[in-house]
Amino acid sequence: QADPAVRVTEAADIAAWWPRTGPASDKYTRGVVGLATGSVKYPGAALLSAAGALAGPTGMVRYAGSAHYDVVRAHPTVVASRKVADAGRVQAWVCGSGLGTGDEARTELRSVLATSLPVLLDADAITLLVGGEHAEDLRRDAPLVITPHDGEFKRLAGEAPGGDRAGAAARLAAWTNAVVLLKGDRTIVATPAGEIWANPTGSPALATAGTGDVLAGLLGSLLAAGLPAVRAAVMAAYVHGLAGRRAAGGGPVTASDVASALRPVLVDLLG
Ligand code: AMP
Ligand code: MG
Repeated sequence: QADPAVRVTEAADIAAWWPRTGPASDKYTRGVVGLATGSVKYPGAALLSAAGALAGPTGMVRYAGSAHYDVVRAHPTVVASRKVADAGRVQAWVCGSGLGTGDEARTELRSVLATSLPVLLDADAITLLVGGEHAEDLRRDAPLVITPHDGEFKRLAGEAPGGDRAGAAARLAAWTNAVVLLKGDRTIVATPAGEIWANPTGSPALATAGTGDVLAGLLGSLLAAGLPAVRAAVMAAYVHGLAGRRAAGGGPVTASDVASALRPVLVDLLG
């Protein structure tokens, strides 16, 4: 806790960094986030990542994926296409939450990594990286964020984070050249350059299926709005944690409740 190299996020950081909408803003200048998430097996991931993204600062949320196209297309505020390559004007991609690891998932991941846009890789996209098939693609010029939980971390790094979670996240960041958001009670964000942040707003209420998908969508929205990857990750973890606390209020909570709590939390933080 007293490690001076680890900074602890404060509410003032969020208020200072959150992009503000002005009279000259339009839906494109605010950013367009693309989601390559969800699958037949995990349809909820598409909707939960969309809910997270819709609470963020971007002006538009686009969804790409054939498996879940019809469900997402019915959403009044998400623009859907069947393939990543068909989704126009996207400014950052979220890939992997509930995506599966089959051929179609692999193709979507490749399309996303082939762009020159900021990319967030979560869940199955992290699993697809294991084995090094895409290791060369990680040396991209545009920002990359990966958001592993402990199991995904272990799969990618070859060993569990262990007791020194900040150190473990920093090593993975250096190795992958990505901003690493290591999920947990005290989520860590580490950059390849050695910057480390600890999130103080964790809530055990978040330990339920789908909350990571909400986080991925929100973080992607911040990337698409043009925030530096480290700030986007630090902000998303902080706001998501507060939403978990607010949704729970001591009682049971679902990932949809957490997504719904993002907006009132942001009103408190930014108002
Ligand atoms: P995922 O495992 O991808 O669904 O993500 C779970 C989310 O819940 C992450 O944002 C974690 O940081 C958070 N989370 C899980 N367990 C806990 C816990 N015990 N305390 C605080 N946050 C948690
Ligand atoms: Mg997850």
